[in-house]
Amino acid sequence: MIEVTNLTKRYNGVVAVDNISFKIERGEVVGFLGPNGAGKTTTLRMLTGYFPPTQGTCKIGDYDIEESPIEAKRSIGYLPENNPLYHEMKVMEYLEFLGALREIHDSRNRIKEVAELCRIKEIISKTIGELSRGYRQRVGLAQAILHNPEILIMDEPTEGLDPNQVAQVRELIKELGKEKTVLLSTHRLPEVEATCKRILIINRGKIIADAGKDELHKMAKGKEVIELEIKAPKEKFLEIIQEQPDIEGIELKEEGETQKYEISSATDPRENIFNLCVANNWTIIDMHRRVVSLESVFRELTQE
Ligand code: ADP
Repeated sequence: MIEVTNLTKRYNGVVAVDNISFKIERGEVVGFLGPNGAGKTTTLRMLTGYFPPTQGTCKIGDYDIEESPIEAKRSIGYLPENNPLYHEMKVMEYLEFLGALREIHDSRNRIKEVAELCRIKEIISKTIGELSRGYRQRVGLAQAILHNPEILIMDEPTEGLDPNQVAQVRELIKELGKEKTVLLSTHRLPEVEATCKRILIINRGKIIADAGKDELHKMAKGKEVIELEIKAPKEKFLEIIQEQPDIEGIELKEEGETQKYEISSATDPRENIFNLCVANNWTIIDMHRRVVSLESVFRELTQE
């Protein structure tokens, strides 16, 4: 549905996006997460045909955004950074204007539908400049989905909103995600936790992580990771430890006179490990616990 291949953008020699590739299938809701300056907006601008890549390609459905921009753009709804709107226009006028521009058949009816979905019916005859930021953002979403695109691309959709407005816009994004393929760019982790099923992390122009919903949830809950150094027969130890409930994974990190393992578990397994070692006459050299939250995963990945 969206296929980005070896995409690169340089601004006067500065590499903003560095040879990235990813695929998003139809119906996926994907968070595009990275710190400020990571290259998110630049990627989205290439993806939406706003400017050309230095290298690489973006395919939207069957169409290459550079070779067939009109066809490709038909399937994209784009809410750009800072949601630029015509402040002097009334909401209805603005949507009618876009309806005509995008050659939408029966645009009045479509505007009604979209106004209902984005909950802007009550402000449809107001001037855009008079609206609260929350309403402006909903008008931005309404314009993005007006031509009923299959793909919705949003750049920092809740930036500058107060907590109530953030919750409302997130709710709306979730609802839209039921029908559409969504790519949502943000530097805020809770944003992707609240709305997305998969997460792509970008840092310094490179994709450094791509995790599915389940993985994300596990990380978000903060799973237990135990670092264990032990003297024990390896096969026997692995056999017994893997049978324990809640143990999700075990990895041998180092092997010599002692063995070092990393054990991940849904609950704290230390007491159980201790008792198993005593029962089997194995020697614990060291055992401690690391709690991994999604926040720390993100920080670890995106720091120096
Ligand atoms: P993000 O959206 O993740 O905050 P951007 O895509 O806006 O990141 O920026 C990525 C990098 O490219 C940054 O280092 C930024 O300074 C640089 N950059 C962005 N736009 C321009 C531009 N028009 N000219 C020169 N450098 C730019």
